[in-house]
Amino acid sequence: MITLPKLPFAENAMEPFISAETIQYHYGKHHTGYVNKLNDLIKGTEYEEMSLSAIIRRADGPIFNNAAQIFNHTFYWKCLSSSSTAAEGTLLEKINNDFGSLEALKEEFIKMGASLFGSGWVWLVREPKGKLMIKQTSNAHTPLSSNLIPIFVCDVWEHAYYIDYRNARPDYLKEFWKHINWKSASKIYEETDTDVFIGIEPCNDIHDPFCQLMDELQDEDRVTT
Ligand code: MN
Repeated sequence: MITLPKLPFAENAMEPFISAETIQYHYGKHHTGYVNKLNDLIKGTEYEEMSLSAIIRRADGPIFNNAAQIFNHTFYWKCLSSSSTAAEGTLLEKINNDFGSLEALKEEFIKMGASLFGSGWVWLVREPKGKLMIKQTSNAHTPLSSNLIPIFVCDVWEHAYYIDYRNARPDYLKEFWKHINWKSASKIYEETDTDVFIGIEPCNDIHDPFCQLMDELQDEDRVTT
């Protein structure tokens, strides 16, 4: 059984970037809905006793969609900060190396988020020990399926911004940029910068540092549904 993680901030903590009303729908209806739906779908199946990361790497169809959306949302909340934080340390060095500057990454990230057709996600990801990249995924798709390590993500489904920004997705992306939790991004970058090979086989959670981190995120402050 998969549980809904607690929202890591108060409902109104992100105002005016994200209103409490958006959070009530986004977390309270959408994220919660994916958890309830997944638990209905996996009841009595081989997935029932698996971790969320294991389900994402093995399932397809509705089980994959709901499991991946649970992870994507849990991760998105962790990527947000109500106070301003700054990129620094080894992650900032890597950004300067791979994109030229933080400003260049920002411009490209906003452009990729704005140009994604339909519903999806825009990510800063890295290959294991490799280059940082911006990646768009449609619908529930997640970089975990292609063994990329997410550093941060912005949800660009309409439900993420329509109450507060209507159709102005670029404005939402610009505000997102000011609320990136760089502390969390640096922690992920540093903790997953290892020589451990992340293979194409379904992950063995013991040997995959991101899967471990992801299951820790999922297990933090559980809310019983
Ligand atoms: Mn969403």
